[in-house]
Amino acid sequence: MTKSQDALRRLREGNERFASGKGNADAFLRCVRRASTVSSQEPFAIVIGCSDSRVPVEIVFDQDLGDLFVIRVAGNIVSPSQLGSVEYAAAEFGSAVVMVLGHTGCGAVLGTLERLRRPAAARSPHMRFIAERIEPAVAPLLTAQREQDRGALIQAAVRANVCQSVEQLRHGSEILEGLIASGQLLVMGGVYDLGTGRIELLEEAEVELPGSIKGGLA
Ligand SMILES: [Zn+2]
Repeated sequence: MTKSQDALRRLREGNERFASGKGNADAFLRCVRRASTVSSQEPFAIVIGCSDSRVPVEIVFDQDLGDLFVIRVAGNIVSPSQLGSVEYAAAEFGSAVVMVLGHTGCGAVLGTLERLRRPAAARSPHMRFIAERIEPAVAPLLTAQREQDRGALIQAAVRANVCQSVEQLRHGSEILEGLIASGQLLVMGGVYDLGTGRIELLEEAEVELPGSIKGGLA
């Protein structure tokens, strides 16, 4: 069996456990939950997260089928398709919160920092598209002082990238601006720590000032 065939087998077997409800107690409860969400959904929150395999949104927030409307894309960037997805969910389901969820050690952010330091031919125009979305947030951080503390630089870059996406959601759509102005929608940012599993919500002051490395509230 090739590696690809083995991967496909694991996906198929996992779905069979999920669909049958025979995997474990959680699988059974999901069967019940699934039945109650066939005809409609009311996700209470919308999350734009990174595609990183270590940050599965429903798992890190301990939520179930129908709870979250999730958009995942490398680097949790906001391009027109993400914006459209958020508009759809906010307008259609009345979800009350949009959270942009970045994470420590984000490969898309690291890759963008690397690209800014050593401009090289991008591996593909599609990957370049993502890096170009992240660049405006992290480029101002590349100072000689910060280069000396790589850990702090990466941490600041992850936060700045989340702040940028939050700002783009807040000011890039008439639909969202209307919902925010009427108090029906809150757009905020958070950073998930791969080591602790905790999500730090970013302070308003930080979001308003992309590039700042002020601390956040827990
Ligand atoms: Zn990532």
